[in-house]
Amino acid sequence: MGMRVLVVEDETRMAALLKRGLEEEGYAVDIAADGTEGLWLGSEHDYAAILLDAMLPGIDGFEVCARLRAQGKWAPVVMLTARDSIEDRVRGLDAGADDYLIKPFAFAELLARVRALLRRGNPERPSVLTVGDLQLDPAAHRVTRAGVDVELTAKEFALLELLMRHVGQVLTRDRILEHVWDFAYVAGSNVVDQYVGYLRRKLDRPFGREDIETVRGTGYRLRAPAQDHPVPTHATPVSELS
Ligand code: CA
Repeated sequence: MGMRVLVVEDETRMAALLKRGLEEEGYAVDIAADGTEGLWLGSEHDYAAILLDAMLPGIDGFEVCARLRAQGKWAPVVMLTARDSIEDRVRGLDAGADDYLIKPFAFAELLARVRALLRRGNPERPSVLTVGDLQLDPAAHRVTRAGVDVELTAKEFALLELLMRHVGQVLTRDRILEHVWDFAYVAGSNVVDQYVGYLRRKLDRPFGREDIETVRGTGYRLRAPAQDHPVPTHATPVSELS
């Protein structure tokens, strides 16, 4: 099968524009004009990527994404949102979207994002993220550690999901801000540090753990379970026990 892309977009001009542009790049393109059709096509076919408008009549884009993920459909999803808001970012993450673009966007940027997702490949991903004894279920919005339910706010949840999706990797404060918070939070804000503190209080300390590491001067990293991902010696972090 060639690179088949699904575009779920109710604005017909935008849908036609995306279809033409993607076809010029050699992709085969299916169009769905609402969430129900998008969900059906996304369930029936294995797309290389799905471009999903957030605001759709009927079932909205977030719900379409969440339902596809709940069905074990893991085609990379780029959410197209009309506004840059905290809620949309968190909802997109929670729904299992891989990336998102804010309208209006340059077509070249869309293509770059799609190519990046296609390069990343489309592995079967578990709907529940597991790192050691830590489990996060994006669909059910549920987190457990060692089998114990841990209540998290939406932002704490989004931050943890980001850390878990990049386990063992250092995430800079800017990258975390960009994914979890609105740009309205000014640079130099310590909101990331605050929320890492909240997560440690809920997920690490009660369990006698120190898995959320501070990488001094850079950002944060969720420690990979030692048996699965031995940390190379050259990447040994400077941990801060706070
Ligand atoms: Ca729309």
